[in-house]
Amino acid sequence: MLSVIDALAIVLSKALPVISESVALTAALNRVLAVDLLTPHDSPPFHKSLMDGFAVTTSAADDQEMIRLAVVETITAGMVPSKAVTTKNAVRIMTGATLPANCDCVVPIEQVQFDEDAPDHVVIPRDSIFAEANLMRQGSAARKGTQLLTAGTQLHPQQIAALAEFGQSCVPVYRRPTVAVLATGDELIACDQPLRPGAIRNSNEPMLMSQAATCGACPVSLGVARDTVAELSLGIQQGLEHDVLLLSGGVSAGTLDLVPQQLAAAGVEQIFHGVNMKPGKPLWFGTRHRESRTTLVFGLPGNPVSSLVCFELFVRPALRKISGSTSQNPSGLAARLSQSFAVKGSRPVYQPAVISIHDGQILVRPVAWNGSSDLKATVEANGMALLSSAHGPYTAGDLVPVWFWGDGRIG
Ligand code: AMP
Ligand code: MG
Repeated sequence: MLSVIDALAIVLSKALPVISESVALTAALNRVLAVDLLTPHDSPPFHKSLMDGFAVTTSAADDQEMIRLAVVETITAGMVPSKAVTTKNAVRIMTGATLPANCDCVVPIEQVQFDEDAPDHVVIPRDSIFAEANLMRQGSAARKGTQLLTAGTQLHPQQIAALAEFGQSCVPVYRRPTVAVLATGDELIACDQPLRPGAIRNSNEPMLMSQAATCGACPVSLGVARDTVAELSLGIQQGLEHDVLLLSGGVSAGTLDLVPQQLAAAGVEQIFHGVNMKPGKPLWFGTRHRESRTTLVFGLPGNPVSSLVCFELFVRPALRKISGSTSQNPSGLAARLSQSFAVKGSRPVYQPAVISIHDGQILVRPVAWNGSSDLKATVEANGMALLSSAHGPYTAGDLVPVWFWGDGRIG
């Protein structure tokens, strides 16, 4: 059977970035930049003072211990100086203001003295005057035409700020992919319905919608399809209008597991069915191409923890790539097991777990879990550990790969 690594490589080979669009800078947070951007001007755009103090030229430092200079101008941030500094004069200057011509030193105000009899003069210790002190040269952070950001970068607050600094009020980003979610099953009832014999509430749909939202995608609910050809084919048709179609349930070997045949009938090409993992073994994956659009179709096994784990292992990395991100798919962090653990069966287990950091070390504690239908156990977990009988039995302190779920935050 296909390994998780091979299955993921196949999924990623089919996941291609969506087209781009331009959005206002204020709407660009967490979006993925679609083009390489060069700096359109120097940063800083002018020589500037880093201190409140006095702009001077180091040529003013003669053999006197205290240098007395005439103050010819006061420059605050935003002003443009009109006078140059000379060996005889200084300019009072504020942080962020443009340096006067000839200035190669700013002496902080705390280091100077004033002469009460000559208020238009300042007295500066010679030791406070040295070249390039307390100033920032034009272009010293970035020269015009150097690389600012590369395509595929997700825009966090610091990148948003850099875009603002360089006047990028309109930002080319990849379109947010749309993800249709179709739950399948005769037994499913909505969350606001009372339980009746044999029925269970549809928890996969809100889970998958939430997972898609944490990827920055646009989730679209297609409701529940009963296990009938008519309802499944209608739901699938609607789902194929989107970048990604997630179905939950109906991909195993039951008599009403009609999803693979209905996907085939809708023209979706099966790429694989079945992955060597627990939970999630019946995972189905295929693609459908029409005109310029490719829809990735995931038939997720209906058991809630199978759906959850398959999303994290396959759908999240696929959405990252479709969204244009070039960030690496995390291969798992190495965490120390808090307790011994015996793996049942031969398939690699993606075990719900609590991942935490203690004294700079990543620790992982498997939660008590009764398998793929035990959703309740996952509310305690914030991620999963990969445990396999090939490497076990495990003892406390063993290093195992772990992944955070969702946006990867601890706690
Ligand atoms: P299936 O993959 O359709 O055979 O479903 C496997 C198990 O998952 C069954 O016990 C289903 O009742 C359950 N299941 C399927 N879909 C959902 C859903 N949307 N929400 C919660 N449980 C589900
Ligand atoms: Mg079913």
